[in-house]
Amino acid sequence: MPQLTIDIGGRPGIDCRGFCEYCYFKHAKGVRAFGCRHCPPFKVGCDYCTRSVQEASTGFRDLRSVADETLANLQLLSGEISRVTISGGGDPSCYPQFRDLIELAGSMEAPLHIGYTSGKGFDDPAIARFLIDQGLTELSFTVFSVNPQLRKRYMHDPSPKVSLQVLEHLCGEIDVYAAAVVLPGVNDGEELRATAEWLEDRGAKGLILMRFANQTDQGLILGNAPILKKQRVQSVAEFRDLVTAISERYRLRVSGTPLWDPAIGSPFAILQEPELIERLPRLQKRATVITGTVAAPFLRRILDLAGGGCPVIAVGKEIACLITIEDLKALDLSNLGETVIIPGRAFVHDRDAEEVLRADGSERLVVRGPDTLTADGETSMGMQRQGVLSLEMEHLAELIRLINRYGR
Ligand code: SF4
Repeated sequence: MPQLTIDIGGRPGIDCRGFCEYCYFKHAKGVRAFGCRHCPPFKVGCDYCTRSVQEASTGFRDLRSVADETLANLQLLSGEISRVTISGGGDPSCYPQFRDLIELAGSMEAPLHIGYTSGKGFDDPAIARFLIDQGLTELSFTVFSVNPQLRKRYMHDPSPKVSLQVLEHLCGEIDVYAAAVVLPGVNDGEELRATAEWLEDRGAKGLILMRFANQTDQGLILGNAPILKKQRVQSVAEFRDLVTAISERYRLRVSGTPLWDPAIGSPFAILQEPELIERLPRLQKRATVITGTVAAPFLRRILDLAGGGCPVIAVGKEIACLITIEDLKALDLSNLGETVIIPGRAFVHDRDAEEVLRADGSERLVVRGPDTLTADGETSMGMQRQGVLSLEMEHLAELIRLINRYGR
């Protein structure tokens, strides 16, 4: 059944009542186009890798044009709409005509979903009832902490108590997924336990913990590292342990990003299912697979179990989808084979990747791999284990088929 997305535009930080202290868009510089899988062959830079990735926009779109576009999109869809999602670069709760917007979305008479809100725009507790009456069924809400002082200090929420009242009401009636960027020493420890307990008591569906990144190798690619000077950052292993500890202590579902969903065993839950790995196609050719440091050990094991012979090389970036040309430039080319697979979503233009990976004079074949190989905690939170395993099977099989087709 078709789904409808209502894009309200807006700029992170600016159209959400000021930057949260930890916002990844803070201090973002107008970086040059990265290049990506969407770019045309002879041009580095497209709308996605220049504008969308930086969420560059001129502000919230006015309600009239949002309504016109929504009605036009509606006419293109046939059948009953299964879901209406409100999304944008800015925070929907801060949209100037928020109630009118919700009435517009509610008039579709389909379950309504707000893709992301910090709740900073909620100044009236009655908004919760209004949202439910208009058909809101699911919401992702950045809670950060249920301590109003921390919300005020780190999110610059002008009315943190009201935001929490709204969150509390919604938790009791609809599916709420809360999210918190974890700043060690600020909202972890006792504060995080209090937040998880509060959410569990109120009936939240889940809590997504996000490891704070403060360096380029941790994923800040907008030229804006560090976001918070002197802020301690957890290692990936420390973060994984924290996710495990919180999930074991509370009944609500807890997952983490960039990794670890204890309920599912992802990323790469397939490693716990040897019979599924047996069903993957066997490797018959050889290629070098480039990825990030988080995925590399998992992927190495899977490819070894699928026949082996394919080196997996991690660049100096934790997350494969955030690999840029600088990461490829830093590779020792003597370690690469004749065919190299780069991550599907890497922010690199195909032409640039070829130029850099052939800089030693070897005519390497550079191939873009699948867009994703597993589900991170944000994605898996709304999924069942079977769904994650199917997704991994499908995309890993695609990767192996690519190696068998283009490898040597
Ligand atoms: S609400 Fe989200 S987008 Fe807006 S400043 Fe905070 S972290 Fe950034």
